[in-house]
Amino acid sequence: MGVAELAASRLDWAASQLAECRLCPRQCRANRAAGELGFCGAGAEARGFMDYVHYGEEAELVPSHSVFLTGCNLRCIFCHTAIERRTLPSEPLTAERLLAMVERGRREGARNVSFHGGEPTVNAPALLRLFAEAGDGLPPIVWNTNLYCTAETLEAIAVIPTFYLVDLKFGNGACAEAVAGAADYWEAVRARLKEAAAREPGKLIVRHLVLPGHLDCCTRPALEWLARELPSARLSLKTDYLVMPDARRDARLGRFLADAEVRQAAALARDFGIPLARQLDSRAMGALVRGQPSEGVALDAELIISPTGAVFLHHPTREVTSIALALRQSQPLPKELEPSGGKKQKGKSER
Ligand code: SF4
Repeated sequence: MGVAELAASRLDWAASQLAECRLCPRQCRANRAAGELGFCGAGAEARGFMDYVHYGEEAELVPSHSVFLTGCNLRCIFCHTAIERRTLPSEPLTAERLLAMVERGRREGARNVSFHGGEPTVNAPALLRLFAEAGDGLPPIVWNTNLYCTAETLEAIAVIPTFYLVDLKFGNGACAEAVAGAADYWEAVRARLKEAAAREPGKLIVRHLVLPGHLDCCTRPALEWLARELPSARLSLKTDYLVMPDARRDARLGRFLADAEVRQAAALARDFGIPLARQLDSRAMGALVRGQPSEGVALDAELIISPTGAVFLHHPTREVTSIALALRQSQPLPKELEPSGGKKQKGKSER
């Protein structure tokens, strides 16, 4: 059965959720079909506010056509897309518009289409309808998710994405509550991760973004749990934390990661023996970004230099990646920031 047929088989379920939304642990029961909005703010339609061919994802996924949707059921103060979601105009996605976007991404070399947020799962009913209407012309679908949803929701969407890229953000409920407003996050996401891994073990990469000051409370328990409960799950350890405006006043999240924290996180992953998802090194990245001309992207890609001189890419399109590679070649990185130290590939990590 193709994606369109699978999605079509879920449309009754999707309609029931829009009439009384219970997609995630918030259990708002909003009648989204009638215009009510729950905690996530997602309506009956999926609305896109940004898309581009992204060079900052894991090696097996890039170039990836990232499509960003409004609506999120978490309130992470370090969110990389919160400002764009608040300020950029959004448009309802139609099947026609999605197919046109996908075609543009294909021409730019994208290997897949990746849905980000916000959070794609809160848009699952609308996306299922779009997939059913779009037919089987879509490339492989990547679901870039916080997986903060119910077991029923995961069951309903499970067969649709070709790949799950799951953010495991915290390692306990107190930090999840303080930073993202979701005290039950740790319980819910661990349960969903186990279900996803049992169903599709080869289709899952777990991302963990190391947060400043959260090594012992979050990184250590998250990696320890992964190693114990999902020993074959591949980990993408992200150390490209950016200080977003909402985090600037936070006592711990208002600074960049210290080099020692980067080294300690890498050592934890190594000591726990967690298999790592492959990241592109600078040579592979150089070959990739020089592969073909870009059609141009109307997007404010950013190149951010931390107080210690580390360079971060926000929205790493081909153009901004080329600039970073040129900078990299003109001035070698300090040893601790070399790819083996986990800091070469800078990309968006949180949605
Ligand atoms: S998906 Fe949105 S409306 Fe539905 S239960 Fe979750 S937060 Fe509420």
